[in-house]
Amino acid sequence: MDKQRDRNLVTGGAGFLGSHLIDALMEKGEEVICLDNYFTGRKQNIIKWINHPKFELIRHDVTEPIFLEIDKIWHLACPASPIHYQYNPIKTSKTSFLGTYNMLGLATRTKAKLLLASTSEVYGNPLIHPQKESYFGNVNNIGIRSCYDEGKRIAETLCFDYNRMHKTEISVMRIFNTFGPRMQIDDGRVVSNFINQALRGENLTVYGDGSQTRSFCYVEDLINGMIKLMESEVKGPINIGAQNELRIDKLAEIIIKKINRELKINFNPIPQDDPIMRRPSIEKAKKELGWSPTVDFEEGLEKTINYFIELNKLSI
Ligand code: NAD
Ligand code: UDP
Repeated sequence: MDKQRDRNLVTGGAGFLGSHLIDALMEKGEEVICLDNYFTGRKQNIIKWINHPKFELIRHDVTEPIFLEIDKIWHLACPASPIHYQYNPIKTSKTSFLGTYNMLGLATRTKAKLLLASTSEVYGNPLIHPQKESYFGNVNNIGIRSCYDEGKRIAETLCFDYNRMHKTEISVMRIFNTFGPRMQIDDGRVVSNFINQALRGENLTVYGDGSQTRSFCYVEDLINGMIKLMESEVKGPINIGAQNELRIDKLAEIIIKKINRELKINFNPIPQDDPIMRRPSIEKAKKELGWSPTVDFEEGLEKTINYFIELNKLSI
């Protein structure tokens, strides 16, 4: 008989996506070990589970090996916001390479399945639009974003090589821009930046002329896609993201309108290698996982704004 597979290890579990994933797994009644070094994650994100008998919290850095008995590894540990992954780029590369290597070693020893949280950044500044999984990307390997982009590319390579050499079960998920409650107030990502600038009554900082695009997926949809992928036999890589492609200046206008204040836009220099356009092709996710996003963008935005309003009240 197949062993019951419900002992989960969530690396990066105290972060934005990891903590939402843990909520979903705990609510399904599964056992969860949350592993984090708290570089960008916070205990507050998972505090409600701390005394739960099926929950365990380990402070650990994935660049070091760890010995555990486990059935499923959700490998999310890695800073995701440009200001965080560029803070110590060598550590970011180490986290992606050594972290994934250590987790694949653990998966192989315990016969666990590993899901890698990869990223749309593997496409770099894409020359085809929308981005399909078959596209090999256009990545600068020596730029300021490379530690993250190339880190995730080698992490994907490791997953497929472990699968070919050791039959390790893997799934690779390419996550596109995701937003929602528990993004960090100061992580520099566009949705959290704009909302918090607007709530503080500051002008919004658009980088470049604002014509660059992103597609924003609400966190709940993203986590549903992640769980569907883990439960499937699909190795991927598979894109998970939203279809609501928006110019960044338009996003600023939407947020100003929602927060209903008299604010202007300041145009600042665009960071090096900032991708010009980004929208996933999700045909594969629809066909192979039966997944597509369901949460309306503006509804997700309102939930996120309300989260930051509450957070600001708490921190006063
Ligand atoms: P986050 O920064 O909120 O979470 C990352 C977590 O990993 C944090 O809790 C951090 O403390 C932990 N961590 C970082 N380095 C570690 C290390 N060496 N050892 C142990 N823990 C470590 O970011 P997030 O948005 O939740 O992203 C989670 C994953 O999803 C990342 O792998 C990221 O690359 C991927 N991703 C996210 C997005 C997005 O829009 N949020 C998009 C694409 C990919
Ligand atoms: N951006 C912006 N103002 C900000 C923060 C970000 O104009 O205050 C832009 C950024 O240059 C990029 C887009 O918004 O073009 C998305 O940035 P984010 O860091 O959220 O995600 P990523 O670039 O990693 O997709």
